[in-house]
Amino acid sequence: MSKVLLEVQDLKMHFPVKEGILLRTSKYNKAVDGISLEIAPGETLGLVGESGCGKSTLGRCIARLYKPTSGSIKFEGEEISLLGANALSAYRRHIQMIFQDPMESLNSRHTVAEIIEEPLIVQNMGDTAWRAKRVKELLDIVGLPARSVSRYPFEFSGGQRQRIGIARSIALNPKLIICDEPVSALDVSIQSQILNLLVDLQKEFNLSYLFIAHDLAVVKHISDRIAIMYLGKIVETGDSQTIYRNAQHPYTQSLISAIPMPDPHRKVTRQLIIGDVPSPIAPPPGCNFHPRCPRAIERCSVDVPQLSASKADSTGLVSCHLVD
Ligand code: SF4
Repeated sequence: MSKVLLEVQDLKMHFPVKEGILLRTSKYNKAVDGISLEIAPGETLGLVGESGCGKSTLGRCIARLYKPTSGSIKFEGEEISLLGANALSAYRRHIQMIFQDPMESLNSRHTVAEIIEEPLIVQNMGDTAWRAKRVKELLDIVGLPARSVSRYPFEFSGGQRQRIGIARSIALNPKLIICDEPVSALDVSIQSQILNLLVDLQKEFNLSYLFIAHDLAVVKHISDRIAIMYLGKIVETGDSQTIYRNAQHPYTQSLISAIPMPDPHRKVTRQLIIGDVPSPIAPPPGCNFHPRCPRAIERCSVDVPQLSASKADSTGLVSCHLVD
């Protein structure tokens, strides 16, 4: 088997923007604009960026909830970006998603048993008795009592609801789970419990994760490697420790400077990023971070920097003229 579980090459997802009385497409929202990445079996890749940078769209393209505009997505060496509905069904056994808000992602009119059993029914697995046993087994794996089966999502706390979502996501023994901000809506005290559960499940089932978050502090403890995304593009990648110790890109540096330090004696100068993320419909020319970059030089508003080898990490990449 390939050492690479998932390989994404130059992936683009451009949504048409319709305008005028005739609703003609005159512009495109370039939510994902030429992304390449790899994930190995059992590995966690953290994908970090501000809201609106396209990270959730990228996750949905990989899960094939969206059909990408162009580019390649290979899963275990097989191209899946162009698969039709029938072939997609088999692929979805191997890739699952966990969403940010379990209250929205779980059907409130279904019992917990119905919610967790649904993917097993869709994939035609087992008979009723086998599925009922499997649902209880999954509840036990995620730390919920078997009596939960007949209850409804609104009867649970936010953390418990996310456990139900996780039970559903592992029901088919997937190889890759796309975790789309799975702890962002939870209290800080509950966040670490869910993160620990995800780490335990990864060890037990050799799962790979694409872990999407807007907060670098959250991905720090769970990721082997980290990719930083800005306005539809990846601007820096590297192993988790090196990114935290020696980030090269000014955007990554400012995200890291915003993480609260547990050691009050360790001083880090906060590097504020001014303004909001520009619209992906009309991204700035040159380096698309230049209107907000505290270190921008003249060249930055004209030339597009390319991802090239990072000086900090032999496997890392960074796109910035200052580290060319
Ligand atoms: Fe800043 Fe220029 Fe580097 Fe872009 S290329 S991150 S604007 S210094």
